[in-house]
Amino acid sequence: MSKRQLAMVMDLNKCIGCQTCTVACKTQWTNRNGREYMYWNNVETYPGAGYPKNWMELGGGFDAAGDLQPGVIPNLEADYGVPWDYNYESLKTSNSDHNSFQPHMSPTWGPNWDEDEGAGAFPLDNYFFYLPRICNHCTNPGCLSACPRDAIFKRDEDGVVLVDLDRCQGYRYCIAGCPYKKIYFNPKISKSEKCILCFPRIEQGLPPACAQQCVGRIRFVGFLDDLDSQVHKLVNVYKVAIPLRSDYGTQPNVYYVPPTESPAKFDAQGRIIEGSTRLPIEELEKLFGKEVHGAIKTLKDEMKKRKETGASELMDILIAYQHADMFRLDNHYYQEVAKAQKRTPLAPADTRYIAGKFTKAGGHH
Ligand code: SF4
Ligand code: SF4
Repeated sequence: MSKRQLAMVMDLNKCIGCQTCTVACKTQWTNRNGREYMYWNNVETYPGAGYPKNWMELGGGFDAAGDLQPGVIPNLEADYGVPWDYNYESLKTSNSDHNSFQPHMSPTWGPNWDEDEGAGAFPLDNYFFYLPRICNHCTNPGCLSACPRDAIFKRDEDGVVLVDLDRCQGYRYCIAGCPYKKIYFNPKISKSEKCILCFPRIEQGLPPACAQQCVGRIRFVGFLDDLDSQVHKLVNVYKVAIPLRSDYGTQPNVYYVPPTESPAKFDAQGRIIEGSTRLPIEELEKLFGKEVHGAIKTLKDEMKKRKETGASELMDILIAYQHADMFRLDNHYYQEVAKAQKRTPLAPADTRYIAGKFTKAGGHH
């Protein structure tokens, strides 16, 4: 456990599945060779198989006794899906009217392969919502426990979980040990890589790129022990933000405000079934546990209060008026940490992730 812990809250009622966060991360970090298929941030459709395919069934994490569970390493082609290209060149030179865009291979899976499919039968009771995912920077990381090289570490000052590329030998036990499958193997440098929570930005007082760019303004970032942070209020005071699959035992630090409302179902004649709701509560229980009931009740009570009285601190927080309130990242704190570690204030606190001693030259762009 670290001295302090950063956390992110994502309000699923507001995610529009635009993937701006994914692109923000892709352009900021996951752009070097070998990272083509990696999505440190991805947004999947739920219900759905997700990314990598069926990640919830691939093991890892801990059982109730605290023992690390076996897990599998997803297959590059079948479970992640390799990036493909199209036949632009042959289209340019062809005179045939019947030519069409064709992938250069026959893909069977990829990120968002099942986007917007969801479950149920259209138009009677179909439903889905978007589930954005990053590394949870867990308090008890399965990836860290699984690594025989002690190459994964959790920073004491903020709980960010990083891979030390000096030590990583590419054994990939971490990938099996992470129940969220949020570590990726870089075949170009033979090392594991993962979300770094944009720590070089955070140390300058800036939020992670995915949160800064989020169009739906669904993401809140701050320290859990900062009583003035909205993250603390959503998680600890109102208890409307709950972790994903806490039954995996890793104590994740990304929290979700669950989807609260869903449209009513239609009967066979196309009439609204009064009082019905499309999103089965069992699905939310599977993702967020029994706490989801209390969270939804609080959210509905506060929505009602807001309608009746005009006042609700919780609704004001979730409307997300000001980035300055949504992101509370204490730049001064990191300067103090740097001073205590006798480093130059504002220099990146960890350079080990950038390139390990054994990283082959040419692995970078
Ligand atoms: S989500 Fe996975 S990769 Fe991230 S800290 Fe937890 S166990 Fe490790
Ligand atoms: S940018 Fe925000 S709204 Fe868009 S997909 Fe990502 S989390 Fe959802």
